[in-house]
Amino acid sequence: MSEILIKNADTILTMDDTRQELTGADILIRDGQISQIGHGLNTMGEVHDASGCVVTPGLVNTHHHLYQTLTRAVPGGQDALLFGWLKTLYPIWARFGPTEMFTSAQIGLAELALSGCTLSSDHLYLYPNGSRLDDTIAAASELGLRFQPTRGAMSIGESDGGLPPDSLVEAEADILEDMIRVVDAFHDPSEGSMCRVGLAPCSPFSVSRDLMRDAALLARDKGVMLHTHLAENDEDIAYSEAQFGCRPGQYAEELGWTGPDVWHAHCVKLDGAEIDLFARTGTGVAHCPCSNCRLGSGIAPVRAMRDQGVNVGLGADGSASNDNGNLMLEARQAMLLQRVANGADAMSSREALEIATRGGADVLGRPDCGRLQRGKRADIAIWDMRSIESAGSWDPAALLLAGPMRVKHLFVEGRQIVRDGQITTIDLPRVIERQNRLAMALQN
Ligand SMILES: [Zn+2]
Repeated sequence: MSEILIKNADTILTMDDTRQELTGADILIRDGQISQIGHGLNTMGEVHDASGCVVTPGLVNTHHHLYQTLTRAVPGGQDALLFGWLKTLYPIWARFGPTEMFTSAQIGLAELALSGCTLSSDHLYLYPNGSRLDDTIAAASELGLRFQPTRGAMSIGESDGGLPPDSLVEAEADILEDMIRVVDAFHDPSEGSMCRVGLAPCSPFSVSRDLMRDAALLARDKGVMLHTHLAENDEDIAYSEAQFGCRPGQYAEELGWTGPDVWHAHCVKLDGAEIDLFARTGTGVAHCPCSNCRLGSGIAPVRAMRDQGVNVGLGADGSASNDNGNLMLEARQAMLLQRVANGADAMSSREALEIATRGGADVLGRPDCGRLQRGKRADIAIWDMRSIESAGSWDPAALLLAGPMRVKHLFVEGRQIVRDGQITTIDLPRVIERQNRLAMALQN
């Protein structure tokens, strides 16, 4: 049995069922789980002094394309809209292989960890030159982050009227076969699982109706979750109406893509009926505010979604469209965008942080994560309130108004991944160096 005690936290934002906030309190971790929260706790094990700090659940990232950290700020894509942006980047991604996938995933996940993220999803939908989902799973496992990779896919290439070049699409039979392989090899459904695999055709415009339906059937058969991009911008809605004769929500519903085991990225353009559909069916949303701003897609109706009871989590989205992978900045942006759309009282700092923690965990089907509560996983972020961003703050718990955007300490399943702002599990400077070498090679 191993114990760790986090002692004397100025404030603990538990995000438990009553959203309890404790002051001067402690958290006792035993074997990767939270065993007690309260005052005056003791242990014979390791003790971490958290005085001067705010403690929150680890943040949860519900949408990312980790491989894209290798193509940040590519000149031709810097100022393009979604479809033009994709067309610029596809030929570059077509040159990736296993090393690019592994390294870019480590960079993306390390960047998330430094911003307080303990659980991340990933959406990998292209597999050039022998790349496999296995490459990103190895990267997450070495770093020690809880990981929910999804086996993405594209099957409609340029010659069939699709957007991606033919070299980046796969035959649908091969896609389904590999989906089965990765679920059987890596999916762990148990409580406290460090790796759960989902199925994720890239978007309704890059795979056939058959593959959408078959993936949904397969996911139900295997007991895994489903993920895709939906209703991202006006072009996306126009495409759906022209190709399928209906709005994205109806398309999703017809093919089995609604339910508590499904979450859709973006959903910027959902209308009232679609929000109602998501609420009724328990379908989740990965809200990606920075990406939506970066690509000019619009402001997702998050206030309306939350008011209707839709599960909403946050997504950093691929670094090529963000370009930052800081989940605290994402949470702050979510709060600010709802205020732009609906006024200054539309979303509080605490609510945005709730979306970033508990909300994301619920979207990913992880009620064992995202809250600091007895019996839940010990995924914990500790924020230093002696930082410059908090100096003069009257309410340290209002982290997204006046708090650090980088974590001081981070624990995943009770294991310390970040200590004093530094990653403990991998040699990050070396990985950054390798990533820069790979990016340079892709430019030549
Ligand atoms: Zn995306």
